[in-house]
Amino acid sequence: LSDTIPQPDWRRLFDHIRVPWIDRGKNCKQGNINIKCVWCGDHDPSMHLSIAEAMPAYYCYRNPDHKGHNIVSIITRLGYSYTEARTLLNQFIRIGELPQQTKQSITLDAARAKWEQFRPAIHNPDILDYLYSRGFPEPELVCLRYDLRFMPYGRWSHRVLIPIKENGRILSWTGRAYVPTELRYLTQDVSDNEGFVYAPRGPRRIAVVVEGPLDALKVASATEQLPISPVALTGSNYNDNRIRRLKGFLQLAEWWLFALDRGVSAIQVNKLRIALEIGGKSGYSFLLPLPTAFGDPGEMPVEVIGPWITGFYGGLHGNSNPPPLAANTRKT
Ligand SMILES: [Zn+2]
Repeated sequence: LSDTIPQPDWRRLFDHIRVPWIDRGKNCKQGNINIKCVWCGDHDPSMHLSIAEAMPAYYCYRNPDHKGHNIVSIITRLGYSYTEARTLLNQFIRIGELPQQTKQSITLDAARAKWEQFRPAIHNPDILDYLYSRGFPEPELVCLRYDLRFMPYGRWSHRVLIPIKENGRILSWTGRAYVPTELRYLTQDVSDNEGFVYAPRGPRRIAVVVEGPLDALKVASATEQLPISPVALTGSNYNDNRIRRLKGFLQLAEWWLFALDRGVSAIQVNKLRIALEIGGKSGYSFLLPLPTAFGDPGEMPVEVIGPWITGFYGGLHGNSNPPPLAANTRKT
């Protein structure tokens, strides 16, 4: 029966129904997340139910009878009806790849020291070729202006390293693979400081919220002369830090335009909107529809991006009928 259910994103699902989970530590193997065993209940002193993320399977470290493949039963044991459980599993279908399983958390100081060891991406012809092929007509300029780097060997090799900065200082970085690999983005995990957004430059009048760092870089390079500044979500886990940083950026802009990838679930957009509206906001927010030919802003040629955004913005002033993400939410 569970074969007919797509594999859910357990992390998002459990966040939604407020079930604590862990993805590291004792009894938690790569490729699994653990929760308090729903069969052991209060007899489970910690998190002994291990749930596979890539296939429908679970196993309890306390009681080997608590194992199986019927993932619906995990949810029903938490007090949901069968129908509710099926609905939840369908709501939280996994989008994209499995999360990185081999997080190696380092301190902020260590992260800053490590970043300084990376080399300027402008010296890596493979990266220049890659950026050019992704629609950046002046890859050297992009490397310099946005401080892109690379490492010739080790864990960070074969990736364009994109700095995540706060107040001009390194917070973390994310590496976009420029060779085919399972994990397109690899991000440095910094202890006690999870959850950030990527803004290639400071806020301007119009903030454009995009999904990935490369989308943000593309929008930034295309709008250098315009009152536009992009910010990338860099993930779908809207934890407190990420929301705080996103709000910090957006509150300095007047207009918020959400240009999310085609195929992003309405739930995801809604979750973000709700998270952002808590605490108020300073401008108007709108869903910025992608031109039909493109799946995300990163696919768009730079010469198309400026007119796309300014055209929509102009439409807002001309009282056309833009699709509101949160209608009439101007702070009073
Ligand atoms: Zn158990």
